[in-house]
Amino acid sequence: MYYNADSIVFLDGQWIPAAKAETSLYGQTLHYGNGVFEGIRAYKTTQGTHVFKAEEHYRRMAYSAGRMHLPMPYTPEELTEISYTLLGKNGLSDAYIRPLLFGAPNMSLTPPSKTHLFMCAWTWGKLLGEKPVRLGISSIRRPHPESCFVDAKVCGHYTNSIIAGTDARSRGYDDALLLDTGGYVAEGPGANFFMEKDQVLYTPPTGHILPGITRSTILKLCREHGITVREKNIHPLELREADGAFFTGTAAEVTGIESIDGNVFRRPWTNSLGEALQKMYKAKVLLQDVPELYL
Ligand code: PMP
Repeated sequence: MYYNADSIVFLDGQWIPAAKAETSLYGQTLHYGNGVFEGIRAYKTTQGTHVFKAEEHYRRMAYSAGRMHLPMPYTPEELTEISYTLLGKNGLSDAYIRPLLFGAPNMSLTPPSKTHLFMCAWTWGKLLGEKPVRLGISSIRRPHPESCFVDAKVCGHYTNSIIAGTDARSRGYDDALLLDTGGYVAEGPGANFFMEKDQVLYTPPTGHILPGITRSTILKLCREHGITVREKNIHPLELREADGAFFTGTAAEVTGIESIDGNVFRRPWTNSLGEALQKMYKAKVLLQDVPELYL
Protein backbone atom coordinates (compact mmCIF):
# COMPACT_ATOMS: atom_id res chain seq x y z
CA MET A 1 0.00 0.00 0.00
CA TYR A 2 2.79 2.48 0.83
CA TYR A 3 5.16 1.49 -1.94
CA ASN A 4 5.55 -0.80 -4.89
CA ALA A 5 8.42 -2.11 -7.00
CA ASP A 6 8.73 1.28 -8.76
CA SER A 7 8.67 3.53 -5.67
CA ILE A 8 11.70 5.69 -4.98
CA VAL A 9 12.57 7.06 -1.54
CA PHE A 10 15.12 9.53 -0.23
CA LEU A 11 17.58 8.28 2.39
CA ASP A 12 20.53 10.39 3.50
CA GLY A 13 21.06 12.12 0.18
CA GLN A 14 20.47 9.02 -1.97
CA TRP A 15 17.50 8.20 -4.18
CA ILE A 16 16.87 4.48 -3.88
CA PRO A 17 14.07 1.97 -4.55
CA ALA A 18 11.80 1.74 -1.48
CA ALA A 19 12.26 -2.03 -1.40
CA LYS A 20 16.05 -1.59 -1.08
CA ALA A 21 16.00 0.99 1.75
CA GLU A 22 17.63 -0.42 4.87
CA THR A 23 18.49 0.74 8.35
CA SER A 24 20.16 -0.44 11.53
CA LEU A 25 18.07 -2.15 14.22
CA TYR A 26 20.13 -0.47 16.95
CA GLY A 27 18.70 3.05 16.85
CA GLN A 28 16.79 4.95 19.54
CA THR A 29 13.87 5.72 17.25
CA LEU A 30 12.93 2.05 17.00
CA HIS A 31 13.64 1.25 20.64
CA TYR A 32 12.60 4.41 22.50
CA GLY A 33 10.57 6.45 20.03
CA ASN A 34 13.17 9.21 19.88
CA GLY A 35 12.71 10.45 16.35
CA VAL A 36 10.72 13.26 14.77
CA PHE A 37 8.58 13.34 11.66
CA GLU A 38 6.07 15.32 9.65
CA GLY A 39 2.94 14.57 7.67
CA ILE A 40 2.57 16.81 4.62
CA ARG A 41 0.13 16.83 1.73
CA ALA A 42 0.71 17.73 -1.88
CA TYR A 43 -2.15 18.63 -4.19
CA LYS A 44 -2.57 18.62 -7.94
CA THR A 45 -3.58 22.19 -8.82
CA THR A 46 -4.10 24.06 -12.08
CA GLN A 47 -0.68 25.62 -11.40
CA GLY A 48 1.00 22.22 -11.02
CA THR A 49 1.84 20.15 -7.96
CA HIS A 50 1.67 22.20 -4.77
CA VAL A 51 3.10 21.00 -1.47
CA PHE A 52 0.83 22.76 1.02
CA LYS A 53 2.69 24.77 3.70
CA ALA A 54 5.89 22.82 3.02
CA GLU A 55 8.20 25.26 4.76
CA GLU A 56 5.91 25.52 7.82
CA HIS A 57 6.04 21.73 8.16
CA TYR A 58 9.82 21.66 7.80
CA ARG A 59 10.27 24.52 10.25
CA ARG A 60 8.18 22.55 12.76
CA MET A 61 10.32 19.49 12.03
CA ALA A 62 13.47 21.51 12.74
CA TYR A 63 11.88 22.73 15.98
CA SER A 64 10.92 19.15 16.96
CA ALA A 65 14.46 17.94 16.20
CA GLY A 66 15.95 20.74 18.30
CA ARG A 67 13.71 19.87 21.26
CA MET A 68 14.87 16.25 21.10
CA HIS A 69 18.57 17.11 20.54
CA LEU A 70 18.54 15.35 17.19
CA PRO A 71 20.97 16.80 14.62
CA MET A 72 18.98 17.99 11.58
CA PRO A 73 21.21 17.87 8.50
CA TYR A 74 18.90 19.79 6.12
CA THR A 75 17.30 23.24 6.09
CA PRO A 76 13.54 23.66 5.56
CA GLU A 77 14.28 25.03 2.07
CA GLU A 78 16.35 21.96 1.17
CA LEU A 79 13.67 19.62 2.51
CA THR A 80 11.02 21.44 0.48
CA GLU A 81 13.09 20.95 -2.66
CA ILE A 82 13.65 17.27 -1.84
CA SER A 83 9.85 16.88 -1.43
CA TYR A 84 9.17 18.17 -4.93
CA THR A 85 11.90 15.96 -6.39
CA LEU A 86 10.47 12.97 -4.52
CA LEU A 87 7.02 13.58 -6.00
CA GLY A 88 8.51 14.00 -9.48
CA LYS A 89 10.53 10.77 -9.25
CA ASN A 90 7.42 8.87 -8.18
CA GLY A 91 5.04 10.52 -10.66
CA LEU A 92 2.87 11.70 -7.73
CA SER A 93 0.82 14.86 -7.47
CA ASP A 94 -1.99 14.29 -4.96
CA ALA A 95 0.09 12.65 -2.27
CA TYR A 96 1.03 12.38 1.37
CA ILE A 97 4.69 13.03 2.15
CA ARG A 98 6.36 11.50 5.19
CA PRO A 99 9.79 12.77 6.24
CA LEU A 100 11.33 11.00 9.25
CA LEU A 101 14.47 11.98 11.15
CA PHE A 102 15.76 8.96 13.01
CA GLY A 103 18.80 8.21 15.13
CA ALA A 104 21.94 6.39 14.11
CA PRO A 105 22.89 3.42 16.36
CA ASN A 106 22.92 4.38 20.04
CA MET A 107 21.31 2.23 22.68
CA SER A 108 22.01 4.50 25.64
CA LEU A 109 19.71 7.28 26.86
CA THR A 110 21.80 10.08 25.38
CA PRO A 111 20.99 11.95 22.16
CA PRO A 112 22.45 10.27 19.07
CA SER A 113 25.38 12.18 17.59
CA LYS A 114 24.17 11.36 14.08
CA THR A 115 20.75 11.08 12.47
CA HIS A 116 19.30 9.79 9.21
CA LEU A 117 16.76 11.55 7.06
CA PHE A 118 14.22 9.37 5.28
CA MET A 119 11.46 10.68 3.03
CA CYS A 120 8.76 8.81 1.16
CA ALA A 121 5.39 9.60 -0.39
CA TRP A 122 2.27 7.71 -1.29
CA THR A 123 -1.33 8.36 -2.32
CA TRP A 124 -3.49 8.61 0.78
CA GLY A 125 -7.19 9.39 0.99
CA LYS A 126 -8.67 11.50 3.78
CA LEU A 127 -7.49 10.04 7.11
CA LEU A 128 -10.93 9.62 8.65
CA GLY A 129 -12.92 9.19 5.45
CA GLU A 130 -15.40 11.58 3.87
CA LYS A 131 -18.34 11.29 6.27
CA PRO A 132 -18.69 13.07 9.64
CA VAL A 133 -17.26 10.83 12.35
CA ARG A 134 -18.56 9.53 15.69
CA LEU A 135 -16.10 10.13 18.51
CA GLY A 136 -15.76 8.66 21.96
CA ILE A 137 -14.02 10.59 24.72
CA SER A 138 -10.95 8.62 25.70
CA SER A 139 -9.99 7.75 29.27
CA ILE A 140 -6.40 8.09 28.01
CA ARG A 141 -5.29 11.72 28.43
CA ARG A 142 -2.87 13.68 26.25
CA PRO A 143 0.63 13.70 27.77
CA HIS A 144 1.30 16.48 30.27
CA PRO A 145 3.37 19.35 28.78
CA GLU A 146 5.74 19.14 31.73
CA SER A 147 6.49 15.50 30.85
CA CYS A 148 7.37 15.99 27.20
CA PHE A 149 7.30 18.61 24.44
CA VAL A 150 3.71 18.19 23.30
CA ASP A 151 4.17 20.87 20.64
CA ALA A 152 6.88 18.78 18.95
CA LYS A 153 6.00 16.00 16.52
CA VAL A 154 7.93 13.21 18.21
CA CYS A 155 7.53 9.57 17.13
CA GLY A 156 7.04 8.20 20.66
CA HIS A 157 4.14 10.57 21.38
CA TYR A 158 2.05 8.58 18.93
CA THR A 159 1.82 5.58 21.26
CA ASN A 160 -0.66 7.79 23.16
CA SER A 161 -2.63 8.38 19.94
CA ILE A 162 -2.64 4.69 19.03
CA ILE A 163 -3.95 3.48 22.39
CA ALA A 164 -6.62 6.19 22.58
CA GLY A 165 -7.88 5.55 19.03
CA THR A 166 -7.81 1.78 19.47
CA ASP A 167 -9.79 2.02 22.71
CA ALA A 168 -12.42 4.27 21.06
CA ARG A 169 -12.80 1.94 18.08
CA SER A 170 -13.14 -1.08 20.40
CA ARG A 171 -16.10 0.78 21.96
CA GLY A 172 -17.72 1.20 18.54
CA TYR A 173 -16.66 4.78 17.76
CA ASP A 174 -14.77 5.92 14.66
CA ASP A 175 -12.06 7.67 16.66
CA ALA A 176 -11.13 9.22 19.99
CA LEU A 177 -11.33 12.69 21.47
CA LEU A 178 -8.63 13.13 24.11
CA LEU A 179 -8.76 15.39 27.13
CA ASP A 180 -5.73 17.09 28.64
CA THR A 181 -4.52 16.22 32.13
CA GLY A 182 -6.68 19.07 33.51
CA GLY A 183 -9.81 17.40 32.11
CA TYR A 184 -10.42 19.86 29.27
CA VAL A 185 -10.80 18.89 25.61
CA ALA A 186 -7.39 18.68 23.94
CA GLU A 187 -7.42 17.09 20.47
CA GLY A 188 -7.83 13.91 18.48
CA PRO A 189 -5.12 11.26 18.04
CA GLY A 190 -3.89 13.05 14.90
CA ALA A 191 -5.99 16.20 14.52
CA ASN A 192 -6.99 19.42 16.29
CA PHE A 193 -10.51 20.09 17.54
CA PHE A 194 -12.96 22.94 16.88
CA MET A 195 -16.46 23.36 18.32
CA GLU A 196 -19.30 25.57 17.00
CA LYS A 197 -21.84 27.26 19.27
CA ASP A 198 -24.17 30.14 18.27
CA GLN A 199 -22.13 30.91 15.12
CA VAL A 200 -18.87 31.21 17.09
CA LEU A 201 -16.04 28.71 16.91
CA TYR A 202 -14.01 27.58 19.91
CA THR A 203 -10.76 25.65 19.90
CA PRO A 204 -8.43 24.59 22.74
CA PRO A 205 -5.50 26.99 23.24
CA THR A 206 -1.92 25.86 22.69
CA GLY A 207 -0.20 24.31 25.69
CA HIS A 208 -1.53 20.74 25.74
CA ILE A 209 -1.89 20.21 21.98
CA LEU A 210 0.18 19.89 18.85
CA PRO A 211 -0.41 23.34 17.31
CA GLY A 212 -1.49 22.17 13.90
CA ILE A 213 -0.61 23.89 10.66
CA THR A 214 -4.17 23.18 9.48
CA ARG A 215 -5.47 24.73 12.74
CA SER A 216 -3.48 27.90 11.95
CA THR A 217 -4.82 27.91 8.38
CA ILE A 218 -8.39 27.63 9.71
CA LEU A 219 -7.80 30.41 12.28
CA LYS A 220 -6.50 32.64 9.47
CA LEU A 221 -9.43 31.78 7.17
CA CYS A 222 -11.81 32.67 10.02
CA ARG A 223 -10.09 36.03 10.54
CA GLU A 224 -10.21 36.79 6.82
CA HIS A 225 -13.87 35.82 6.44
CA GLY A 226 -15.38 37.35 9.53
CA ILE A 227 -15.94 34.14 11.48
CA THR A 228 -15.44 34.66 15.21
CA VAL A 229 -13.15 32.07 16.73
CA ARG A 230 -11.96 31.93 20.32
CA GLU A 231 -9.17 29.88 21.83
CA LYS A 232 -10.40 28.66 25.19
CA ASN A 233 -10.45 25.64 27.47
CA ILE A 234 -13.49 23.55 26.60
CA HIS A 235 -15.05 21.43 29.34
CA PRO A 236 -16.45 18.11 28.04
CA LEU A 237 -19.92 19.07 29.37
CA GLU A 238 -19.92 22.07 26.98
CA LEU A 239 -19.81 19.64 24.06
CA ARG A 240 -23.41 18.63 24.78
CA GLU A 241 -24.58 22.23 24.30
CA ALA A 242 -22.58 22.77 21.10
CA ASP A 243 -24.10 23.06 17.62
CA GLY A 244 -21.31 21.20 15.85
CA ALA A 245 -17.64 20.30 15.79
CA PHE A 246 -14.84 19.27 13.46
CA PHE A 247 -11.27 18.01 13.35
CA THR A 248 -8.45 19.69 11.41
CA GLY A 249 -5.18 18.13 10.31
CA THR A 250 -2.99 17.60 7.28
CA ALA A 251 -4.15 14.01 6.86
CA ALA A 252 -7.71 14.57 8.16
CA GLU A 253 -8.05 17.97 6.38
CA VAL A 254 -11.39 19.30 7.76
CA THR A 255 -13.46 16.36 9.02
CA GLY A 256 -16.94 16.86 10.43
CA ILE A 257 -17.87 15.31 13.77
CA GLU A 258 -21.36 13.83 13.92
CA SER A 259 -21.46 12.90 17.61
CA ILE A 260 -19.37 12.64 20.76
CA ASP A 261 -20.10 9.82 23.20
CA GLY A 262 -23.34 9.21 21.30
CA ASN A 263 -24.60 12.82 21.62
CA VAL A 264 -25.40 13.94 18.08
CA PHE A 265 -24.76 17.62 17.32
CA ARG A 266 -27.96 19.55 16.69
CA ARG A 267 -26.82 21.38 13.58
CA PRO A 268 -26.51 19.21 10.45
CA TRP A 269 -22.97 19.18 9.08
CA THR A 270 -24.21 20.48 5.71
CA ASN A 271 -25.38 23.67 7.43
CA SER A 272 -22.42 24.30 9.72
CA LEU A 273 -19.46 26.66 9.88
CA GLY A 274 -17.33 23.51 9.74
CA GLU A 275 -18.68 22.54 6.34
CA ALA A 276 -18.17 26.09 5.03
CA LEU A 277 -14.57 25.99 6.28
CA GLN A 278 -14.08 22.55 4.75
CA LYS A 279 -14.90 24.07 1.34
CA MET A 280 -12.69 27.10 1.99
CA TYR A 281 -9.81 24.87 3.05
CA LYS A 282 -10.18 22.71 -0.05
CA ALA A 283 -10.03 25.83 -2.27
CA LYS A 284 -7.00 27.12 -0.35
CA VAL A 285 -4.94 23.93 -0.76
CA LEU A 286 -5.84 23.83 -4.46
CA LEU A 287 -4.72 27.49 -4.82
CA GLN A 288 -8.23 28.48 -5.93
CA ASP A 289 -10.25 31.52 -4.85
CA VAL A 290 -11.69 30.83 -1.41
CA PRO A 291 -15.52 30.85 -1.60
CA GLU A 292 -17.36 33.41 0.50
CA LEU A 293 -19.38 32.18 3.43
CA TYR A 294 -23.13 31.85 2.90
CA LEU A 295 -24.94 30.85 6.04
N1 PMP B 1 -2.61 16.97 16.65
C1 PMP B 1 -1.91 15.84 16.49
C2 PMP B 1 -1.65 14.98 17.68
C3 PMP B 1 -1.44 15.46 15.22
O1 PMP B 1 -0.75 14.34 15.06
C4 PMP B 1 -1.72 16.28 14.11
C5 PMP B 1 -1.23 15.90 12.75
N2 PMP B 1 0.07 16.37 12.52
C6 PMP B 1 -2.44 17.45 14.33
C7 PMP B 1 -2.87 17.78 15.61
C8 PMP B 1 -2.74 18.41 13.19
O2 PMP B 1 -1.55 19.02 12.79
P1 PMP B 1 -1.36 19.55 11.29
O3 PMP B 1 -2.55 20.37 11.00
O4 PMP B 1 -0.11 20.32 11.36
O5 PMP B 1 -1.27 18.35 10.43
